[in-house]
Amino acid sequence: LSVHPSEITFTGGGSESDNQALITGAHIGAQKGKRHLISTVMEHHAVLHSLRRLKEEGFEITLLPISKDGFVSPESVRKALRPDTALVSVMAANNEIGTIQPIEAIGTLCHENGVLFHTDAVQGAAHMDLDFTKGVIDMASFSAHKFHGPKGAGILYARRGIELESLIEGGAQERGKRAGTENIPAIVGMAAALEKAMQEKTVESARIRALKERLREKLLVLKGVRQNGALSPSLPGTLNMTFDGAPSEALLPLLGMDGICVSAGSACASGSPEPSHVLLALGLSAKQARSSIRFSLGADLDEKDIDTIAAIVIGHVTALRKLHHADQ
Ligand SMILES: *Cc1c(COP(=O)(O)O)cnc(C)c1O
Repeated sequence: LSVHPSEITFTGGGSESDNQALITGAHIGAQKGKRHLISTVMEHHAVLHSLRRLKEEGFEITLLPISKDGFVSPESVRKALRPDTALVSVMAANNEIGTIQPIEAIGTLCHENGVLFHTDAVQGAAHMDLDFTKGVIDMASFSAHKFHGPKGAGILYARRGIELESLIEGGAQERGKRAGTENIPAIVGMAAALEKAMQEKTVESARIRALKERLREKLLVLKGVRQNGALSPSLPGTLNMTFDGAPSEALLPLLGMDGICVSAGSACASGSPEPSHVLLALGLSAKQARSSIRFSLGADLDEKDIDTIAAIVIGHVTALRKLHHADQ
């Protein structure tokens, strides 16, 4: 990551890193009488629910909207900044639609205004060029399993000079920033996975992006199918599509039985009856959001797999539509 070792704290994953970053940023601000926080409507629940808790502590929250194609604008951040803004948190890339956010421009704005900037880089880590040398990113969250590392290990980057607030009371592990014995096997696995991801980034990203475009083209042949979020700039392997007349609640288990694992919105929200907050923020109706699925293309797929997946999805969507039609 081209950062100093003292700027790295190992955590139990992306959610913990997000929690710790937001609580730290808010409390550093509060010490200076700043109690306003800015984020966006499309953040992961690890950020949104941390903000909810901080609101209960008396912080004021501004959640910025996103455009129809899935971006937050630096201009909207600029307008929302106030003299009492403590922290801005904007994700590097969205986990449901894959759009890559202009975090360098936003971080620069924050710095010009003396405001801390955190980015949830969990999705962006393996596919973007995150530059920590410019000093505009104060804190960043990472999670090992999002770049083929082990589950339950994460990183919280904090620029030198930022005192992270420990969420766990206990010993002095991680220089007092995270008590509890470190999960060394997972941390070593995370480092190995990150190293591999960084080495393969350019080649792998191009290969996966071509697979995504192939899948998208094949699915768009069907009528009543739309892609959610812009194609560029976006993560190479994330594709979110709406299939009119095919509720994901019905489509997901059918695909699962065929060995195709996709999700309706965020995997972290599976089992929740609520339609995706990200898709609603794009302007989709609840019904459209409930008929949308996210494909996350991983390193083990090839063109043949994509063709098989497309054919199976089209088969099930067509069958579900007929069933739905017969019902009425
Ligand atoms: C997965 C994810 C998280 C949570 O990471 P965990 O390691 O599962 O806790 C946070 N933010 C984003 C954007 C994610 O995709």
